[in-house]
Amino acid sequence: MALLSRRLRPVFLVLMVLPAAVVSGGAQQPASAATRLTLGGPAPPTRTEAELRAFLDELEIQEFAISNALGVEQYYQWKGENRHFAGQFARLQTDLLSRKDYAAVIERWRGKVRDSTLARRLFLHHRDFLVARADPRLPLRFVDLQAAVQDTLGQFRFEIRGQRLTGTAAYELVDTSADRSLREEAFRSRTQVSPHLRHPIFQAMELLDRIGRQQGFANGAAAGLELSSLEPASVLRDIEAFELATRPAYLAILARVKADLGVDRVEAWDIDYWLHRQERSVGADAWPKEPGLTRLHDLMRGLGFAVDSLPIDVRVWDVPTGGITFFTRPPYEARLLTNPFTGSDFYETLFHEYGHGLNATLMRPDLSPIFFRGDETPLGEGLAETLGHFAYDRHWLAHAAGVSADQAERLEQVGKMQLLLWLRRSITLQAYTEISLYRDRRMNPDSLYAAAYRRFAGVELPPGDYMGARDFFATGPLYAQSYLYANMIATQLREAMREQFGVDDLSREPRVGAWLTERFFAPGASVPWREKVQRATGKPLSTDALARYLAGAIPPEGAGRSPS
Ligand SMILES: [Zn+2]
Repeated sequence: MALLSRRLRPVFLVLMVLPAAVVSGGAQQPASAATRLTLGGPAPPTRTEAELRAFLDELEIQEFAISNALGVEQYYQWKGENRHFAGQFARLQTDLLSRKDYAAVIERWRGKVRDSTLARRLFLHHRDFLVARADPRLPLRFVDLQAAVQDTLGQFRFEIRGQRLTGTAAYELVDTSADRSLREEAFRSRTQVSPHLRHPIFQAMELLDRIGRQQGFANGAAAGLELSSLEPASVLRDIEAFELATRPAYLAILARVKADLGVDRVEAWDIDYWLHRQERSVGADAWPKEPGLTRLHDLMRGLGFAVDSLPIDVRVWDVPTGGITFFTRPPYEARLLTNPFTGSDFYETLFHEYGHGLNATLMRPDLSPIFFRGDETPLGEGLAETLGHFAYDRHWLAHAAGVSADQAERLEQVGKMQLLLWLRRSITLQAYTEISLYRDRRMNPDSLYAAAYRRFAGVELPPGDYMGARDFFATGPLYAQSYLYANMIATQLREAMREQFGVDDLSREPRVGAWLTERFFAPGASVPWREKVQRATGKPLSTDALARYLAGAIPPEGAGRSPS
């Protein structure tokens, strides 16, 4: 039972869940007095494209001031400081984005300007100002529910054989215990929290659905996915394609689990344990914690990034998720917090987060401020994964982690199997269930979830309220699919670089840095994410490269027979 957030759940979510504001109209000043946009003032006249541009310039300065300030507050919030102004600054941001008079200017001009950069700016403003269409009390109630779910889960202890354990410690038992009945008990303990979470989770989904419909969307999923330029039907199609393409490799893994563990039927609590044995059986410690930062810098330097002059502050810090990166002042400063995990998780998260940091600090400094937000989540996460994949790249393992070529190959394979399991059982299972429920609110969520579990995880869910334990439906709504797209992007980009550079080993390839910077980092949000992928790789994004990559996840004959 891997956690959904193997790593970063980013701060972009704030835009979706902004606490509501009280401002709903312009200030009571005569509009004729306005020649420029003052703080909290009425929109100035925008009769020409030049006047519109001037209005947007000033609006973006106000937004940028608030988002930079908010980023710093959130950084200290995540570092565990009790005194911060994250909530207050988030409300300032909502005040601005709830201005119906500003929203009206944007709607009036949308699709009617000649300049393509201005059109892109208008499109992003249009989406930001969708907040202004909903009853401002609903997002506030949603944020409160989110906090309640988060707090309940954080404080909850799961009782297993007389011990009271955190969720993480309970998962650890499922992953590592050789006692099968203990693994089963730990797995089933998850439903202990359901009586506390089920009601707020469904209330949160109901609220998001209402907010989405008030914004003019067919349902909450359509509204949430719009923030990543996705729509429900196509996401479901991509999930189907991914599930079908990876089914043979996944079934081969399940068959091997059954044979290696000598069980009649593979259960939900057997798969992670088998994978844990696989990693152990290679017999090498490829991911020691102590040299992590040195190895990170060596890798990035080898890829052609000017590591020593990049303004990325890296700290290993115990945060409530894998890691998180703040665009403190793009492109001049980024701050990164990453968890002190053990093993490959530590390196994967560190490299992934550093990818976000590169993204933040390698944007062109002359962009309009609205473009400094970077790419939408599929590509934002995709670029981070492009670097995260190096953590179990056999070339990097062989030359940087001190393991033999044979061990490196086996570790890469274990990494692929972990990725496949995570994408099927956490990511696509979550996204499929969530989107299906928003599309048809009459569906029975429990039977839908059980059927989806059977299909994506390939094993039966035992009886019990597992649906009511899925806190992510409230705390990370409509986010899961980002990681499926991220891995489609990472594998397609890595394939394209190998082809274009004519090399197999990217881990010491100094052209990687410039390739990623020119095509992806530098333009920020000024180019839509699908267009960037298409231009750089010469083809539209598809599941093909990911399926090819994960075909290598089939375990070799006889692997894992004799764990220590
Ligand atoms: Zn990330």
